[in-house]
Amino acid sequence: MSAPRIAALIGSPVGHSLSPALHQAAFDAAGVNWAYTAFDITDAAAALSAMRLLGLAGLSVTMPLKEDVARAVDRLDPAARVLHSVNTVSWDGDELVGSSTDGAGFVASLAAAGVEVEGAQISVIGAGGAARSVIDALGRVGAADITVLNRTRDRAEQAASLSKAASVGIVSDITRADIVINATSVGMGVSVDDATEADMACDPALLRSGQVIADLVYHPLETAWMRAAADIGATTVDGLGMLVHQAALQQLRWLGEMPDTTAMRIAAEAELARR
Ligand code: NAP
Repeated sequence: MSAPRIAALIGSPVGHSLSPALHQAAFDAAGVNWAYTAFDITDAAAALSAMRLLGLAGLSVTMPLKEDVARAVDRLDPAARVLHSVNTVSWDGDELVGSSTDGAGFVASLAAAGVEVEGAQISVIGAGGAARSVIDALGRVGAADITVLNRTRDRAEQAASLSKAASVGIVSDITRADIVINATSVGMGVSVDDATEADMACDPALLRSGQVIADLVYHPLETAWMRAAADIGATTVDGLGMLVHQAALQQLRWLGEMPDTTAMRIAAEAELARR
């Protein structure tokens, strides 16, 4: 049997990442001779040299390397160029291409949950890296209107400038929206039973029945904010779908085929339950 093709996560820290479990589950489900590992490194240029030297088949990129890798690859896909951030490196001939699959992965997770983005009014809470990728992707797939709310207004303005459909919002936009997204880290690591008001992305009284409430936080899988939204009669979408679909889009770039996202989700849930 020939040596496996190797894909890897680079960044620091990488020990807590679900990526190895997700990717290996997809390789195994597809029956391909690929292996996935993680390297705790902070030098983007050295990592890309190693990719060339060792013939690594693909890279996932996490903090703090997303911007450095964007500067070091040969070419960027449109989303990565706008965001100045790369979470995926793949080969095109002998060129290294940097992509950003987070936003498209989020949109795919909404589609998998039966949520239509085209023409929707959307409110995004947060303006960090995850929010920026989501705003860019929602604009690309035809969201009618994206309002951005963030604790730090400057960052909301910067994030809103990423899409023609986006602008800085006010609190009442949350109630008007068809889809409300928590792209902050608020609620992360806090169980429904232990949560206080400070662990809610926004006051649940602003939400209403009939809305779609999507939380990018996936640990816990159901946040207190999602539970409160479900109690009001809103439809909720968890953050694990985004994690699975951004990884699936990485595999599409590496192998040329979409992987089994159900196998990936099962592996990610098992890994989360183990922790
Ligand atoms: P980031 O760049 O550090 O941005 C953090 C965001 O959260 C900022 O908008 C920040 O507001 C806001 N924030 C933090 N603490 C807050 C508080 N106490 N009250 C109000 N706002 C607060 O982080 P990121 O990479 O965007 O990640 C954000 C979240 O998304 C994390 O929980 C991360 O795990 C999750 N995520 C999930 C996926 C997925 O696949 N599901 C992918 C990426 C990220 P300021 O600008 O005012 O500081």
